[in-house]
Amino acid sequence: MTTQRLARPVRPQIVLEVLATEMLSEHMIRLTFGGPGFENFQDKPVSDRYVKILFAKPELGLIPPYDLDALREQLAPEDFPVRRTYTLHHVDLEAGTVQIDFVVHGDEGIAGPWALNAKIGDQICFNSPGGLYTPNPEFARHLLIGDETALPAISAAVLDMTPEMVGDIYLEVGGPEDHVTLDVPEGITVHWLHRGGPFTPENTRLESVVRAAPWSDDSVQVFAHGERETMKTLRAYLHGERKVDRKAMSLSAYWAFGRAEDEFQAEKKSPIGQIFPEVANA
Ligand SMILES: Cc1cc2nc3c(=O)[nH]c(=O)nc-3n(C[C@H](O)[C@H](O)[C@H](O)COP(=O)(O)OP(=O)(O)OC[C@H]3O[C@@H](n4cnc5c(N)ncnc54)[C@H](O)[C@@H]3O)c2cc1C
Repeated sequence: MTTQRLARPVRPQIVLEVLATEMLSEHMIRLTFGGPGFENFQDKPVSDRYVKILFAKPELGLIPPYDLDALREQLAPEDFPVRRTYTLHHVDLEAGTVQIDFVVHGDEGIAGPWALNAKIGDQICFNSPGGLYTPNPEFARHLLIGDETALPAISAAVLDMTPEMVGDIYLEVGGPEDHVTLDVPEGITVHWLHRGGPFTPENTRLESVVRAAPWSDDSVQVFAHGERETMKTLRAYLHGERKVDRKAMSLSAYWAFGRAEDEFQAEKKSPIGQIFPEVANA
């Protein structure tokens, strides 16, 4: 018997332009995008919706949407557009706009520096969103943990919380200048942790603070995302030691220290890049 592989429907690229830019904090810039390309946007109504943005080298003069199959034939591998993954912090279907909050993490990289220098009218190109997590009222408590890269998703999740929800949010940032306002339900406590500067493996305290916090065996829904090694230690604590059910956890690496996203994504196929190795090997 032959098995037929079903072709995946091709999702159109969405090309939008920058409508507004706003510094939210010392190291976070919010860009609002919109324009006629929004008609291709297919929403996924979850809190952590994310997209893969395509960045082409400006000197090649390519105009989005990109014919990736053709470009693969024509371009040297190092000139092929690269992908960077970002949360859609807010989607306004009526206005036809989306907002993305970019961490400004220095001169290295593509997306961070691009966002910092973006001008009104600049174009961006991405596919319709993925994502799976929304705070679920069936859980007795909610535990949300992240660094700056997860802050856009966590602040979107807060907006989807119901007033009776209880739990804790642990957010690690450089310092008080990186705080943003989170309008949380009364039963949710926000804990800001300060590294005292940019992330290093030595100055992060996220896992040790979460580990030292009181634990209750009530049912808990977890959303934890951030730097890869921190997420591995949190996975060992929450799933390995506290036995939080895998299905109640949204936990992954959003980036890896010292790795550009291309390398970090490629490493997901090897042990160093795996957070839940039993799933990756399944
Ligand atoms: C599902 C998902 C959602 C995400 N949502 C967001 C979001 O809403 N906002 C956001 O800012 N990021 C988000 N990220 C993380 C973002 O994709 C990475 O930070 C990405 O590496 C940034 O691309 P870049 O081109 O700026 O840097 P890259 O070219 O990928 O990396 C260059 C260098 O910068 C370092 N670096 C990358 N990111 C950071 C950082 N945040 N802090 C310090 N050093 C860094 C790398 O380790 C590398 O050394 C998300 C990731 C995922 C998987």
